[in-house]
Amino acid sequence: MKKRPHIVILGAGPAGLGAAYQLAKRDDIDLTVIEATSQTGGTSRSIEVKGLQADLGSHRLHPACPPHILSDIQGLLGDDLLQRPRHGRIRLANRWVRFPVHPLHLLFELPPRLSARFAKDMCRGIWPQKNPSPGSATGSDPGSDPGISQLDAPTYRNELERRFGTALNEYFYSPYAKKLWGLPPEKIAAVQAEKRVAAGSLFTIARKSLLTLLGKKPFFYYPRQGFGQIFTAYEKAVRDAGTHFALGEPVTQLARAAEKFRIRTKTGRQFEADVCLSSLPLPLVAHLWKGPLSPSVQHAATQLRYRSMVLVYLVIQARQFTEFDAHYLPASELTCSRISEPAHYRASAHSNRTVLCAEIPCNREDAIWSATPEILTGIVQHDLEDCDLSLPPITHVQVERIERAYPVYDLSFADSFAELDSWSQGLENFASFGRQGLFVHDNSHHALEMGYEAADCVSATGPFDQARWQEARLRFAGNTVED
Ligand SMILES: Cc1cc2nc3c(=O)[nH]c(=O)nc-3n(C[C@H](O)[C@H](O)[C@H](O)COP(=O)(O)OP(=O)(O)OC[C@H]3O[C@@H](n4cnc5c(N)ncnc54)[C@H](O)[C@@H]3O)c2cc1C
Repeated sequence: MKKRPHIVILGAGPAGLGAAYQLAKRDDIDLTVIEATSQTGGTSRSIEVKGLQADLGSHRLHPACPPHILSDIQGLLGDDLLQRPRHGRIRLANRWVRFPVHPLHLLFELPPRLSARFAKDMCRGIWPQKNPSPGSATGSDPGSDPGISQLDAPTYRNELERRFGTALNEYFYSPYAKKLWGLPPEKIAAVQAEKRVAAGSLFTIARKSLLTLLGKKPFFYYPRQGFGQIFTAYEKAVRDAGTHFALGEPVTQLARAAEKFRIRTKTGRQFEADVCLSSLPLPLVAHLWKGPLSPSVQHAATQLRYRSMVLVYLVIQARQFTEFDAHYLPASELTCSRISEPAHYRASAHSNRTVLCAEIPCNREDAIWSATPEILTGIVQHDLEDCDLSLPPITHVQVERIERAYPVYDLSFADSFAELDSWSQGLENFASFGRQGLFVHDNSHHALEMGYEAADCVSATGPFDQARWQEARLRFAGNTVED
Protein backbone atom coordinates (compact mmCIF):
# COMPACT_ATOMS: atom_id res chain seq x y z
CA MET A 1 0.00 0.00 0.00
CA LYS A 2 1.28 3.50 -0.87
CA LYS A 3 2.45 5.46 2.17
CA ARG A 4 0.35 8.53 2.92
CA PRO A 5 2.20 11.83 2.46
CA HIS A 6 3.33 13.48 5.70
CA ILE A 7 2.45 17.18 5.93
CA VAL A 8 4.23 19.22 8.60
CA ILE A 9 2.94 22.62 9.67
CA LEU A 10 5.42 24.95 11.37
CA GLY A 11 3.90 27.34 13.93
CA ALA A 12 0.55 26.94 15.70
CA GLY A 13 -0.70 30.53 15.57
CA PRO A 14 -3.97 31.27 13.71
CA ALA A 15 -2.34 30.59 10.32
CA GLY A 16 -0.89 27.23 11.32
CA LEU A 17 -4.09 26.19 13.10
CA GLY A 18 -6.23 27.26 10.13
CA ALA A 19 -4.17 25.01 7.85
CA ALA A 20 -4.24 22.18 10.39
CA TYR A 21 -8.02 22.46 10.78
CA GLN A 22 -8.58 21.99 7.06
CA LEU A 23 -6.00 19.23 6.63
CA ALA A 24 -7.13 17.31 9.73
CA LYS A 25 -10.43 16.60 7.94
CA ARG A 26 -8.59 14.45 5.40
CA ASP A 27 -7.80 10.79 5.80
CA ASP A 28 -5.34 10.57 2.89
CA ILE A 29 -2.46 12.35 4.65
CA ASP A 30 -0.54 12.29 7.96
CA LEU A 31 -0.24 15.60 9.76
CA THR A 32 2.05 17.05 12.42
CA VAL A 33 2.05 20.59 13.86
CA ILE A 34 5.29 21.86 15.41
CA GLU A 35 5.15 24.91 17.70
CA ALA A 36 7.95 26.64 19.64
CA THR A 37 5.91 27.53 22.72
CA SER A 38 3.89 25.34 25.04
CA GLN A 39 0.61 26.99 23.97
CA THR A 40 -1.10 27.38 20.59
CA GLY A 41 -2.61 30.64 19.30
CA GLY A 42 0.59 32.63 18.61
CA THR A 43 0.07 36.35 19.14
CA SER A 44 -3.66 35.71 19.33
CA ARG A 45 -3.48 33.52 22.43
CA SER A 46 -4.90 34.52 25.81
CA ILE A 47 -3.04 34.48 29.09
CA GLU A 48 -3.96 34.56 32.75
CA VAL A 49 -2.90 37.45 34.94
CA LYS A 50 -3.46 36.61 38.62
CA GLY A 51 -6.56 34.60 37.72
CA LEU A 52 -7.91 37.24 35.30
CA GLN A 53 -8.16 36.55 31.58
CA ALA A 54 -6.22 38.82 29.20
CA ASP A 55 -4.90 38.81 25.63
CA LEU A 56 -1.55 39.81 24.13
CA GLY A 57 -2.72 43.38 23.54
CA SER A 58 -6.24 44.32 22.50
CA HIS A 59 -7.64 41.58 20.24
CA ARG A 60 -11.14 41.42 18.73
CA LEU A 61 -12.65 39.30 15.98
CA HIS A 62 -13.77 41.74 13.33
CA PRO A 63 -17.07 41.39 11.48
CA ALA A 64 -14.97 41.53 8.28
CA CYS A 65 -14.04 37.89 9.01
CA PRO A 66 -14.89 35.82 5.89
CA PRO A 67 -18.33 34.18 6.39
CA HIS A 68 -17.10 30.56 6.02
CA ILE A 69 -14.47 31.16 8.74
CA LEU A 70 -16.90 32.99 11.00
CA SER A 71 -19.31 30.10 10.60
CA ASP A 72 -16.56 27.62 11.62
CA ILE A 73 -15.72 29.77 14.67
CA GLN A 74 -19.41 29.99 15.60
CA GLY A 75 -19.64 26.21 15.24
CA LEU A 76 -16.60 25.69 17.45
CA LEU A 77 -17.55 28.19 20.17
CA GLY A 78 -21.34 28.10 20.12
CA ASP A 79 -22.86 30.51 22.65
CA ASP A 80 -19.39 31.45 23.86
CA LEU A 81 -18.90 33.74 20.87
CA LEU A 82 -20.34 37.07 21.96
CA GLN A 83 -21.27 40.02 19.79
CA ARG A 84 -20.11 43.19 21.53
CA PRO A 85 -20.49 46.91 20.80
CA ARG A 86 -17.31 48.91 20.23
CA HIS A 87 -16.74 51.39 23.00
CA GLY A 88 -13.29 52.94 22.76
CA ARG A 89 -11.86 56.43 22.80
CA ILE A 90 -8.79 58.23 21.52
CA ARG A 91 -6.73 61.03 23.06
CA LEU A 92 -6.38 63.90 20.56
CA ALA A 93 -5.07 67.36 21.50
CA ASN A 94 -5.45 66.53 25.21
CA ARG A 95 -9.14 65.65 24.83
CA TRP A 96 -10.93 62.31 24.63
CA VAL A 97 -12.82 61.57 21.42
CA ARG A 98 -14.90 58.49 20.57
CA PHE A 99 -12.98 55.77 18.65
CA PRO A 100 -13.44 54.63 15.84
CA VAL A 101 -13.21 58.30 14.93
CA HIS A 102 -16.51 60.07 14.23
CA PRO A 103 -16.37 63.32 12.20
CA LEU A 104 -18.98 65.00 14.42
CA HIS A 105 -16.76 64.49 17.43
CA LEU A 106 -13.77 65.87 15.50
CA LEU A 107 -15.83 68.94 14.73
CA PHE A 108 -17.40 69.56 18.12
CA GLU A 109 -15.24 68.00 20.83
CA LEU A 110 -11.80 69.38 20.02
CA PRO A 111 -10.26 72.84 20.51
CA PRO A 112 -11.93 75.24 18.00
CA ARG A 113 -8.77 75.88 15.93
CA LEU A 114 -8.24 72.17 15.42
CA SER A 115 -11.91 71.56 14.67
CA ALA A 116 -11.69 74.27 12.02
CA ARG A 117 -8.79 72.42 10.41
CA PHE A 118 -10.76 69.16 10.42
CA ALA A 119 -13.73 70.99 8.89
CA LYS A 120 -11.51 72.37 6.13
CA ASP A 121 -10.01 68.92 5.43
CA MET A 122 -13.50 67.41 5.32
CA CYS A 123 -14.72 69.96 2.79
CA ARG A 124 -11.63 69.42 0.62
CA GLY A 125 -11.50 65.69 1.06
CA ILE A 126 -15.03 64.54 0.34
CA TRP A 127 -13.46 62.63 -2.52
CA PRO A 128 -9.81 61.59 -2.29
CA GLN A 129 -7.46 63.12 -4.81
CA LYS A 130 -5.66 60.90 -7.29
CA ASN A 131 -2.33 59.59 -6.07
CA PRO A 132 0.35 61.42 -8.05
CA SER A 133 2.88 59.19 -9.72
CA PRO A 134 6.37 59.61 -8.26
CA GLY A 135 8.11 62.60 -9.72
CA SER A 136 5.07 63.79 -11.67
CA ALA A 137 4.66 67.54 -11.86
CA THR A 138 1.09 67.66 -10.66
CA GLY A 139 1.77 69.40 -7.39
CA SER A 140 -0.09 72.53 -8.33
CA ASP A 141 -3.29 72.02 -6.35
CA PRO A 142 -3.90 75.61 -5.26
CA GLY A 143 -5.81 74.41 -2.20
CA SER A 144 -3.13 72.08 -0.95
CA ASP A 145 -1.60 72.77 2.43
CA PRO A 146 2.10 73.38 2.69
CA GLY A 147 3.56 70.05 3.69
CA ILE A 148 1.56 67.95 1.23
CA SER A 149 4.24 67.50 -1.32
CA GLN A 150 2.69 65.87 -4.35
CA LEU A 151 6.12 65.82 -5.98
CA ASP A 152 7.51 63.34 -3.46
CA ALA A 153 7.64 59.57 -3.96
CA PRO A 154 4.61 57.91 -2.37
CA THR A 155 5.08 57.33 1.34
CA TYR A 156 2.75 56.50 4.22
CA ARG A 157 2.62 60.17 5.05
CA ASN A 158 1.69 61.60 1.67
CA GLU A 159 -0.73 58.73 0.97
CA LEU A 160 -2.66 59.53 4.16
CA GLU A 161 -2.48 63.28 3.60
CA ARG A 162 -3.97 62.67 0.16
CA ARG A 163 -6.86 60.78 1.78
CA PHE A 164 -7.51 62.81 4.90
CA GLY A 165 -5.67 66.15 4.70
CA THR A 166 -3.14 67.29 7.27
CA ALA A 167 -4.99 67.62 10.60
CA LEU A 168 -5.89 63.93 11.13
CA ASN A 169 -2.36 63.03 10.09
CA GLU A 170 -0.69 65.50 12.37
CA TYR A 171 -2.69 64.46 15.43
CA PHE A 172 -3.34 60.78 14.76
CA TYR A 173 -1.81 58.86 11.88
CA SER A 174 1.71 60.32 11.87
CA PRO A 175 2.50 60.16 15.61
CA TYR A 176 0.76 56.77 15.83
CA ALA A 177 2.83 55.43 12.91
CA LYS A 178 6.04 56.64 14.56
CA LYS A 179 5.02 54.97 17.80
CA LEU A 180 3.83 51.67 16.30
CA TRP A 181 6.54 51.12 13.73
CA GLY A 182 9.38 53.30 15.06
CA LEU A 183 9.83 55.33 11.87
CA PRO A 184 8.72 58.82 10.82
CA PRO A 185 5.78 58.50 8.39
CA GLU A 186 7.85 59.83 5.49
CA LYS A 187 10.22 56.87 5.94
CA ILE A 188 7.38 54.32 5.78
CA ALA A 189 6.29 52.79 2.47
CA ALA A 190 2.92 53.95 1.10
CA VAL A 191 1.71 50.35 0.98
CA GLN A 192 1.52 50.44 4.79
CA ALA A 193 -1.39 52.87 4.43
CA GLU A 194 -3.13 50.46 2.04
CA LYS A 195 -2.71 47.59 4.48
CA ARG A 196 -3.44 49.38 7.73
CA VAL A 197 -5.96 52.12 7.03
CA ALA A 198 -9.27 50.81 5.72
CA ALA A 199 -10.97 54.21 5.22
CA GLY A 200 -10.30 55.72 1.80
CA SER A 201 -11.21 59.29 2.74
CA LEU A 202 -12.91 61.43 5.34
CA PHE A 203 -16.01 60.79 3.24
CA THR A 204 -15.78 57.05 4.02
CA ILE A 205 -15.42 57.84 7.72
CA ALA A 206 -18.39 60.21 7.53
CA ARG A 207 -20.52 57.56 5.75
CA LYS A 208 -19.69 54.98 8.42
CA SER A 209 -20.56 57.55 11.07
CA LEU A 210 -23.89 58.25 9.41
CA LEU A 211 -24.68 54.52 9.48
CA THR A 212 -23.82 54.58 13.19
CA LEU A 213 -26.25 57.45 13.73
CA LEU A 214 -28.89 55.50 11.80
CA GLY A 215 -28.49 52.64 14.24
CA LYS A 216 -25.85 50.38 12.61
CA LYS A 217 -23.60 50.44 15.65
CA PRO A 218 -20.02 49.18 15.20
CA PHE A 219 -19.50 45.81 16.84
CA PHE A 220 -17.04 42.97 17.10
CA TYR A 221 -17.06 39.31 18.14
CA TYR A 222 -15.31 38.14 21.25
CA PRO A 223 -15.23 34.76 23.02
CA ARG A 224 -16.42 34.52 26.60
CA GLN A 225 -13.08 33.10 27.79
CA GLY A 226 -10.76 35.48 25.96
CA PHE A 227 -9.68 35.89 22.34
CA GLY A 228 -7.45 32.81 22.59
CA GLN A 229 -10.52 30.62 23.12
CA ILE A 230 -10.98 30.67 19.34
CA PHE A 231 -7.61 29.02 18.89
CA THR A 232 -7.84 26.53 21.73
CA ALA A 233 -11.12 25.43 20.08
CA TYR A 234 -9.31 25.03 16.72
CA GLU A 235 -6.54 23.09 18.48
CA LYS A 236 -9.06 20.77 20.13
CA ALA A 237 -10.83 20.07 16.82
CA VAL A 238 -7.49 19.27 15.17
CA ARG A 239 -6.38 17.02 18.06
CA ASP A 240 -9.74 15.25 18.10
CA ALA A 241 -9.15 14.38 14.44
CA GLY A 242 -5.97 12.57 15.50
CA THR A 243 -3.31 15.13 14.55
CA HIS A 244 -0.04 15.10 16.46
CA PHE A 245 1.08 18.41 18.03
CA ALA A 246 4.71 18.90 19.01
CA LEU A 247 4.49 21.85 21.42
CA GLY A 248 7.50 23.48 23.11
CA GLU A 249 9.65 22.43 20.12
CA PRO A 250 11.28 25.47 18.45
CA VAL A 251 12.46 24.55 14.96
CA THR A 252 16.24 25.02 14.77
CA GLN A 253 17.09 23.49 11.37
CA LEU A 254 15.39 22.97 8.05
CA ALA A 255 16.96 20.96 5.25
CA ARG A 256 16.06 18.97 2.20
CA ALA A 257 17.22 15.41 1.66
CA ALA A 258 15.97 12.89 -0.90
CA GLU A 259 12.81 14.82 -1.83
CA LYS A 260 11.83 15.26 1.81
CA PHE A 261 12.13 18.12 4.27
CA ARG A 262 14.12 17.31 7.36
CA ILE A 263 13.07 19.45 10.32
CA ARG A 264 15.05 19.46 13.53
CA THR A 265 13.90 21.04 16.80
CA LYS A 266 15.70 22.37 19.86
CA THR A 267 14.99 19.21 21.84
CA GLY A 268 16.83 17.15 19.20
CA ARG A 269 13.73 15.61 17.59
CA GLN A 270 13.71 15.20 13.85
CA PHE A 271 10.69 15.15 11.55
CA GLU A 272 10.50 14.26 7.87
CA ALA A 273 7.90 15.90 5.67
CA ASP A 274 6.73 15.51 2.09
CA VAL A 275 5.12 18.96 2.27
CA CYS A 276 6.16 21.71 4.69
CA LEU A 277 3.76 24.60 5.40
CA SER A 278 5.58 27.26 7.39
CA SER A 279 4.02 30.15 9.31
CA LEU A 280 7.41 30.99 10.85
CA PRO A 281 8.99 34.39 10.19
CA LEU A 282 10.40 34.15 6.65
CA PRO A 283 13.80 35.71 7.59
CA LEU A 284 14.06 33.06 10.34
CA VAL A 285 13.35 30.29 7.82
CA ALA A 286 16.26 31.53 5.67
CA HIS A 287 18.42 31.58 8.78
CA LEU A 288 17.44 27.98 9.72
CA TRP A 289 17.88 26.67 6.16
CA LYS A 290 20.75 24.21 5.84
CA GLY A 291 20.83 24.21 2.03
CA PRO A 292 22.51 26.55 -0.44
CA LEU A 293 21.49 30.19 -0.02
CA SER A 294 22.68 33.00 -2.30
CA PRO A 295 24.38 36.03 -0.70
CA SER A 296 21.49 38.25 -1.83
CA VAL A 297 18.94 36.04 0.00
CA GLN A 298 21.15 35.96 3.08
CA HIS A 299 21.41 39.74 2.93
CA ALA A 300 17.65 40.21 2.44
CA ALA A 301 17.00 38.08 5.54
CA THR A 302 19.00 40.55 7.61
CA GLN A 303 17.12 43.55 6.21
CA LEU A 304 13.52 42.76 7.14
CA ARG A 305 12.78 44.17 10.59
CA TYR A 306 9.97 43.57 13.06
CA ARG A 307 8.81 46.01 15.71
CA SER A 308 8.55 44.49 19.17
CA MET A 309 6.09 45.19 21.95
CA VAL A 310 6.17 45.18 25.74
CA LEU A 311 2.81 44.49 27.39
CA VAL A 312 2.31 45.73 30.93
CA TYR A 313 -0.63 44.17 32.80
CA LEU A 314 -1.79 46.01 35.90
CA VAL A 315 -4.27 44.33 38.19
CA ILE A 316 -6.12 47.10 40.00
CA GLN A 317 -8.49 47.17 42.93
CA ALA A 318 -11.65 48.42 41.25
CA ARG A 319 -14.79 47.04 39.65
CA GLN A 320 -13.82 48.79 36.44
CA PHE A 321 -11.19 51.30 35.38
CA THR A 322 -13.34 53.32 33.00
CA GLU A 323 -16.47 52.48 31.01
CA PHE A 324 -14.33 52.26 27.82
CA ASP A 325 -12.86 49.04 26.45
CA ALA A 326 -9.77 50.66 24.92
CA HIS A 327 -7.93 53.96 25.09
CA TYR A 328 -5.87 54.85 22.00
CA LEU A 329 -2.89 57.11 22.68
CA PRO A 330 -1.25 58.41 19.50
CA ALA A 331 0.48 61.49 21.03
CA SER A 332 4.27 61.30 20.93
CA GLU A 333 4.54 62.62 24.52
CA LEU A 334 2.88 59.39 25.71
CA THR A 335 4.83 56.11 25.60
CA CYS A 336 1.95 53.62 25.45
CA SER A 337 0.06 53.17 22.18
CA ARG A 338 -3.09 51.69 23.71
CA ILE A 339 -4.47 50.75 27.12
CA SER A 340 -7.34 48.29 27.20
CA GLU A 341 -9.49 46.67 29.85
CA PRO A 342 -10.23 43.08 28.75
CA ALA A 343 -13.23 42.61 31.09
CA HIS A 344 -15.23 44.99 28.86
CA TYR A 345 -14.53 42.88 25.77
CA ARG A 346 -16.40 39.90 27.09
CA ALA A 347 -18.92 41.68 29.33
CA SER A 348 -17.76 39.63 32.28
CA ALA A 349 -19.33 40.19 35.66
CA HIS A 350 -17.21 42.74 37.47
CA SER A 351 -15.60 41.68 40.70
CA ASN A 352 -13.61 44.06 42.86
CA ARG A 353 -10.55 43.55 40.62
CA THR A 354 -9.87 44.20 36.95
CA VAL A 355 -6.80 44.01 34.75
CA LEU A 356 -5.49 46.69 32.35
CA CYS A 357 -3.21 45.92 29.42
CA ALA A 358 -0.83 48.68 28.30
CA GLU A 359 0.88 48.23 24.92
CA ILE A 360 4.35 49.75 24.49
CA PRO A 361 5.83 49.28 21.00
CA CYS A 362 9.65 49.38 20.89
CA ASN A 363 12.76 47.88 19.30
CA ARG A 364 14.64 45.09 21.01
CA GLU A 365 17.70 47.37 21.26
CA ASP A 366 15.70 49.95 23.27
CA ALA A 367 16.13 50.08 27.04
CA ILE A 368 12.36 49.74 27.44
CA TRP A 369 12.42 46.21 25.96
CA SER A 370 14.27 44.92 29.03
CA ALA A 371 13.01 47.48 31.57
CA THR A 372 11.94 46.19 34.98
CA PRO A 373 8.24 45.86 35.91
CA GLU A 374 8.71 48.81 38.32
CA ILE A 375 10.02 51.11 35.57
CA LEU A 376 7.30 49.99 33.16
CA THR A 377 4.58 50.53 35.77
CA GLY A 378 5.91 54.06 36.31
CA ILE A 379 5.70 54.73 32.57
CA VAL A 380 2.09 53.56 32.36
CA GLN A 381 1.14 55.55 35.47
CA HIS A 382 2.76 58.64 33.99
CA ASP A 383 0.82 58.25 30.72
CA LEU A 384 -2.46 57.81 32.58
CA GLU A 385 -1.84 60.90 34.70
CA ASP A 386 -1.06 62.87 31.54
CA CYS A 387 -4.47 61.78 30.24
CA ASP A 388 -6.21 62.90 33.45
CA LEU A 389 -6.96 59.32 34.48
CA SER A 390 -6.36 58.30 38.05
CA LEU A 391 -5.29 54.75 38.73
CA PRO A 392 -6.82 52.77 41.63
CA PRO A 393 -4.35 50.81 43.81
CA ILE A 394 -2.29 48.28 41.83
CA THR A 395 -2.22 44.80 43.38
CA HIS A 396 -0.17 42.94 40.77
CA VAL A 397 2.03 43.67 37.75
CA GLN A 398 2.90 41.23 34.98
CA VAL A 399 5.00 41.91 31.90
CA GLU A 400 4.90 40.00 28.59
CA ARG A 401 7.02 40.65 25.52
CA ILE A 402 6.24 40.05 21.83
CA GLU A 403 9.43 39.91 19.81
CA ARG A 404 7.80 40.18 16.39
CA ALA A 405 4.67 42.28 16.84
CA TYR A 406 4.58 44.29 13.60
CA PRO A 407 6.46 43.92 10.29
CA VAL A 408 8.23 47.22 9.58
CA TYR A 409 7.56 48.55 6.09
CA ASP A 410 10.50 50.88 5.60
CA LEU A 411 11.09 52.31 2.14
CA SER A 412 13.19 49.32 1.01
CA PHE A 413 11.36 46.41 2.67
CA ALA A 414 9.61 45.40 -0.58
CA ASP A 415 12.90 44.56 -2.36
CA SER A 416 14.17 42.49 0.58
CA PHE A 417 10.86 40.67 0.90
CA ALA A 418 10.71 39.97 -2.87
CA GLU A 419 14.20 38.41 -2.74
CA LEU A 420 13.29 36.11 0.18
CA ASP A 421 9.87 35.33 -1.22
CA SER A 422 11.18 34.25 -4.59
CA TRP A 423 13.76 32.01 -2.86
CA SER A 424 11.09 30.32 -0.72
CA GLN A 425 8.77 29.88 -3.70
CA GLY A 426 11.57 28.01 -5.44
CA LEU A 427 11.41 25.31 -2.74
CA GLU A 428 9.22 22.54 -4.07
CA ASN A 429 6.40 21.43 -1.77
CA PHE A 430 7.03 24.30 0.60
CA ALA A 431 4.82 27.31 1.36
CA SER A 432 5.41 30.26 3.65
CA PHE A 433 2.18 31.82 4.90
CA GLY A 434 0.58 33.81 7.74
CA ARG A 435 1.57 37.15 9.24
CA GLN A 436 5.19 36.19 9.82
CA GLY A 437 5.60 34.02 6.76
CA LEU A 438 4.36 36.64 4.29
CA PHE A 439 5.56 39.65 6.32
CA VAL A 440 2.09 41.18 6.30
CA HIS A 441 0.02 43.38 8.54
CA ASP A 442 -3.08 41.33 9.10
CA ASN A 443 -5.90 40.33 11.41
CA SER A 444 -6.20 36.86 12.82
CA HIS A 445 -9.06 36.10 10.42
CA HIS A 446 -6.68 36.85 7.52
CA ALA A 447 -4.12 34.47 9.06
CA LEU A 448 -6.79 31.76 9.41
CA GLU A 449 -7.85 32.33 5.82
CA MET A 450 -4.25 31.99 4.60
CA GLY A 451 -4.03 28.72 6.53
CA TYR A 452 -7.27 27.40 5.02
CA GLU A 453 -6.10 28.30 1.52
CA ALA A 454 -2.60 26.84 1.98
CA ALA A 455 -4.20 23.57 3.14
CA ASP A 456 -6.45 23.51 0.08
CA CYS A 457 -3.31 23.63 -2.10
CA VAL A 458 -2.12 20.26 -0.75
CA SER A 459 -3.33 17.86 -3.41
CA ALA A 460 -4.56 14.31 -2.82
CA THR A 461 -1.22 12.90 -3.95
CA GLY A 462 0.72 15.12 -1.58
CA PRO A 463 2.47 17.75 -3.74
CA PHE A 464 1.74 21.40 -3.10
CA ASP A 465 -0.14 23.19 -5.89
CA GLN A 466 1.99 26.32 -6.38
CA ALA A 467 -0.20 27.75 -9.18
CA ARG A 468 -3.31 27.62 -7.00
CA TRP A 469 -1.34 29.12 -4.11
CA GLN A 470 -0.23 32.05 -6.29
CA GLU A 471 -3.87 32.77 -7.11
CA ALA A 472 -4.75 32.71 -3.42
CA ARG A 473 -1.88 35.06 -2.62
CA LEU A 474 -3.16 37.59 -5.15
CA ARG A 475 -6.44 37.60 -3.22
CA PHE A 476 -4.68 38.12 0.13
CA ALA A 477 -2.82 41.09 -1.37
CA GLY A 478 -6.06 43.09 -1.11
CA ASN A 479 -6.50 42.47 2.65
CA THR A 480 -6.69 45.52 4.89
CA VAL A 481 -6.25 45.45 8.65
CA GLU A 482 -9.29 46.32 10.77
CA ASP A 483 -8.40 48.16 13.99
C1 LIG B 1 -0.84 44.23 19.58
C2 LIG B 1 -1.60 43.44 18.56
C3 LIG B 1 -2.99 43.55 18.51
C4 LIG B 1 -3.71 42.82 17.56
N1 LIG B 1 -5.08 42.95 17.54
C5 LIG B 1 -5.80 42.19 16.68
C6 LIG B 1 -7.23 42.24 16.69
O1 LIG B 1 -7.85 43.01 17.45
N2 LIG B 1 -7.91 41.43 15.83
C7 LIG B 1 -7.27 40.58 14.97
O2 LIG B 1 -7.95 39.86 14.23
N3 LIG B 1 -5.92 40.52 14.92
C8 LIG B 1 -5.17 41.30 15.75
N4 LIG B 1 -3.79 41.23 15.73
C9 LIG B 1 -3.15 40.38 14.72
C10 LIG B 1 -3.07 38.90 15.12
O3 LIG B 1 -2.42 38.80 16.35
C11 LIG B 1 -2.31 38.16 14.02
O4 LIG B 1 -2.94 38.42 12.78
C12 LIG B 1 -2.25 36.66 14.16
O5 LIG B 1 -1.85 36.22 15.43
C13 LIG B 1 -1.27 36.12 13.11
O6 LIG B 1 -1.28 34.73 13.12
P1 LIG B 1 -0.06 33.88 12.53
O7 LIG B 1 -0.33 32.47 12.82
O8 LIG B 1 0.17 34.28 11.13
O9 LIG B 1 1.23 34.40 13.35
P2 LIG B 1 1.54 34.30 14.90
O10 LIG B 1 0.36 34.56 15.72
O11 LIG B 1 2.74 35.16 15.11
O12 LIG B 1 1.97 32.76 15.10
C14 LIG B 1 3.21 32.27 14.65
C15 LIG B 1 3.55 31.04 15.48
O13 LIG B 1 4.82 30.51 15.05
C16 LIG B 1 5.54 30.09 16.21
N5 LIG B 1 6.97 30.05 15.93
C17 LIG B 1 7.82 31.09 15.74
N6 LIG B 1 9.08 30.63 15.58
C18 LIG B 1 9.02 29.29 15.67
C19 LIG B 1 10.00 28.26 15.60
N7 LIG B 1 11.29 28.50 15.39
N8 LIG B 1 9.58 26.97 15.73
C20 LIG B 1 8.26 26.65 15.91
N9 LIG B 1 7.30 27.61 16.02
C21 LIG B 1 7.68 28.90 15.89
C22 LIG B 1 5.19 31.16 17.23
O14 LIG B 1 5.47 30.71 18.55
C23 LIG B 1 3.70 31.37 16.96
O15 LIG B 1 2.90 30.51 17.74
C24 LIG B 1 -3.03 41.97 16.64
C25 LIG B 1 -1.64 41.88 16.68
C26 LIG B 1 -0.93 42.60 17.63
C27 LIG B 1 0.59 42.48 17.66
